[in-house]
Amino acid sequence: RAKEAGRARHEVFDSVMRAGAIRRLEIVNDLHRALERNQFVLHFQPQIDLRTNSLIGVEALLRWVHPERGLIPPLEFIPVAEETGLINDLGRWVLRAACQQGRTWLDRFPDREPLVMSVNLSGRQLHQPRLAEEVAAALEDSGFPADQLVLEITESVLMNDTAATIHTLEALKELGVRLAIDDFGTGYSSLTYLQRFPIDILKIDKSFVDGLGSANIEESAVTRTIVALAKTLRLETVAEGVERSEHVRELQSLHCDIGQGYFFARPLDAGALTTLMAQPDTPVAALGSLADVDR
Ligand code: C2E
Ligand code: MG
Ligand code: MG
Ligand code: MG
Repeated sequence: RAKEAGRARHEVFDSVMRAGAIRRLEIVNDLHRALERNQFVLHFQPQIDLRTNSLIGVEALLRWVHPERGLIPPLEFIPVAEETGLINDLGRWVLRAACQQGRTWLDRFPDREPLVMSVNLSGRQLHQPRLAEEVAAALEDSGFPADQLVLEITESVLMNDTAATIHTLEALKELGVRLAIDDFGTGYSSLTYLQRFPIDILKIDKSFVDGLGSANIEESAVTRTIVALAKTLRLETVAEGVERSEHVRELQSLHCDIGQGYFFARPLDAGALTTLMAQPDTPVAALGSLADVDR
């Protein structure tokens, strides 16, 4: 009986594995054609200046609109794109599309405070020798100002391959773009890299922001420390995954610069964000009502 149960379990496990493998294979297959078939879109999540409560930027977040499966989130296909090398083409598309959209908004809302556009880079892109040229081309072709573009890199990427990485980051800095460390605090942080790399912004990971507003002050210790560190190093701070008004209040009292999260808005499609910008006096809290697009 035990043996039989074991075998049954094994078979279930096998079939789950097989389903996973098949799905992955389908993703690999479809991914190749997805770019030429224009199945990718960018959504844009608002970033709010915590002092003025105004919209000061957006993060571009990639979505795959699959004809049969619907909206596929990035964590399901970006790792596959990295493994197959497709991330280079895809990443180039993201950069160009984000800069184009940024330029469209600048032209449409010339009187608005200029919007900062943040774009995620994958590790593999960073190891690509032509990355800086491609960023330069995306800026030039779109006419989007370099100083309004932020490139987000995760910590783990910075830990590998230091010499080449520094070289690439410096080439990017020479273009005038700014660099952010994404999910800060979750990697294998040897803090020395903050001095070695030309970083401008720390994005405090959601896992630390979650603890804010609790009566237990230990819950906010990491965020407090990161903000203090950032101030010392003259880096800007962005809190990710801000979901509650208590988070906002504590971030404001810590003098964190910028907030991003469902409390303010989910990632929105370009149309919804355009609507939002057309009403410059929309209070931040009202962003929530537009926040259903990305569910
Ligand atoms: P990320 O860069 O850290 O982006 C933040 C993620 O947190 C987004 O998930 C966003 O929708 C989600 N988020 C924002 N606010 C909240 C909140 O209040 N609560 C919760 N629970 N989640 C929140 P998304 O869009 O699924 O993206 C996941 C990751 O995929 C991104 O994490 C980024 O690492 C990667 N990614 C997205 N777009 C791109 C891209 O164009 N290129 C590359 N290389 N990676 C991308
Ligand atoms: Mg990011
Ligand atoms: Mg992040
Ligand atoms: Mg993240």
